[in-house]
Amino acid sequence: FPTVTVLDIPFINTTTAQFTAAVQRRIVQQQNTFVVTANPEIVMYAHDHPDYRDVLQSADYVTPDGIGILNGAQILGDPLPERITGFDTLQALLQWGSDQHRSAYLVGAKPEVIARLKTILPQRYPGLNIVGLRDGYFQDAQAVADDIAAQAPDMVFAALGFPKQEQFIATYRHTTHGLWMGVGGSFDVLAG
Ligand code: UDP
Repeated sequence: FPTVTVLDIPFINTTTAQFTAAVQRRIVQQQNTFVVTANPEIVMYAHDHPDYRDVLQSADYVTPDGIGILNGAQILGDPLPERITGFDTLQALLQWGSDQHRSAYLVGAKPEVIARLKTILPQRYPGLNIVGLRDGYFQDAQAVADDIAAQAPDMVFAALGFPKQEQFIATYRHTTHGLWMGVGGSFDVLAG
């Protein structure tokens, strides 16, 4: 996709539908993919933290998750068509994963949220092969990463909040052939 750069972060210039379709193609082709859904808070944090900025710049796709990013692009004279949120993308990919019998590993949020998702997800996404569902308050990141690598999921969703989720993904993404995406507080919303 063409990009629009806002404060040194290149945002993809496309729609949620086009983006989701591209990510699905990459999953089918087993192309390792790192997606960041970035709001203005994340962009400002990256502006002040060069290490985190490098992590964002290493992503395959950074999507505009926040109206402030659209406003920024508009001011630069290079408007973006719509927000591409972590929650919408997560829902679209879980539905696709269910339809196509793909596998997913979900890590993040509090234990009680994960307990609810253990009931909700198999009901809502019956065809999805959930190979990992664990909370985000672990001590040993390497052990979690080893488990993800062992499961080799098509999709890894990390809901650890920023900057933690992107740092985790950037460190371990190359242990599988699939998608890795940070989804912030999306598990909390999914659990209702
Ligand atoms: N979280 C986590 N581990 C941590 C810190 C946070 O799993 O060490 C989870 C938290 O329970 C919540 C999500 O990460 O589900 C962060 O949500 P928030 O909306 O604050 O994140 P943002 O969208 O701002 O990145």
